[in-house]
Amino acid sequence: MQRKRVLITGAAGFLGSHLCDRFIKEGFHVIGMDNLITGELRNIEHLFKLENFEFYHHDVTKFIHVPGHLDYILHFASPASPIDYLKIPIQTLKVGAMGTHNCLGLAKEKKARILVASTSEVYGDPLVHPQHEDYWGNVNPIGPRGVYDEAKRYMESITMAYHNFHGVNTAIVRIFNTYGPRMRLNDGRALPTFICQALRGEDLTVFGDGSQTRSFCYVDDLIEGIYRLLLSDYHLPVNLGNPDEISLKHFAEEIIALSGKNLKIVYKPLPVDDPKQRQPDITRAGEILGWKPAISRAEGLKITYNYFKNLPPEEWNKQPKEFKSMK
Ligand code: NAD
Repeated sequence: MQRKRVLITGAAGFLGSHLCDRFIKEGFHVIGMDNLITGELRNIEHLFKLENFEFYHHDVTKFIHVPGHLDYILHFASPASPIDYLKIPIQTLKVGAMGTHNCLGLAKEKKARILVASTSEVYGDPLVHPQHEDYWGNVNPIGPRGVYDEAKRYMESITMAYHNFHGVNTAIVRIFNTYGPRMRLNDGRALPTFICQALRGEDLTVFGDGSQTRSFCYVDDLIEGIYRLLLSDYHLPVNLGNPDEISLKHFAEEIIALSGKNLKIVYKPLPVDDPKQRQPDITRAGEILGWKPAISRAEGLKITYNYFKNLPPEEWNKQPKEFKSMK
């Protein structure tokens, strides 16, 4: 029997590389595509020897050509961390807009089902809690984070337009904070920053008074939800995340405990537009996909901490990525 063929954009990134692994494991022919702007080839280099894996070094904001049949497209290409998208705001807008447009055009041509990676950031600084898919959000379009939030809102909008107008088979996942091995240590997000500081034996930096909350989903749980959504025929947005909410202060304390070191928390001013509260309502994912997270924070954090601990210590000191082109 012919293998199903799936194109994964953003394949060399944190989530994209885990998706490649999962689809290879399920017997698919996987075509990874990435321009390596924030991703790293080492995340997928173990796949290069496989016959059912191909890699295209390509920028998805440019026309995408993939020879042969495609059954599925997963569009995950986009800078995802504030530390990245604040430095490359135009690329972030372009990949959400033109990149998504190109992927939808390809899905139309190939008659493939396409799933696009949206984000909890479409809810902005939410005025309702927890956030259900029917909530429209509270986003500042001209704030610094607007480049990411609005790119993803446009992505959702054009995806629904292709569905309604061209009949393309589409899916939208709204991903909440996800963590696990292959996350970049220097990406500025709370979890890798805390872990790195703990590994270096430094005090942990919390912005604001630490009362703002986050909920963290372990990567294997998220990938399972995405897999089920892709294989379903559902078209409206679906939240995937772990509703287990924690304050950043409490979270920093958990990491200090995990490190077994005698570290303190230091407080710094809150960045602009930093969301105060974020918690997914995952009722829809439960009803449509029979999905809920299975891995507890204690378990997931332990795996992730040990993964980072086993990296060469120079990785714990790496500075945030700089970008050559700013257009
Ligand atoms: P990541 O930075 O690790 O991966 C993104 C990948 O996309 C990188 O490999 C990067 O090189 C690639 N890329 C960016 N622009 C590109 C372009 N123009 N052409 C080709 N490749 C390009 O980020 P991630 O955490 O793996 O996020 C993946 C996707 O999931 C993103 O779309 C992000 O918005 C979404 N998401 C992630 C999270 C999370 O918690 N990690 C939460 C919400 C949404």
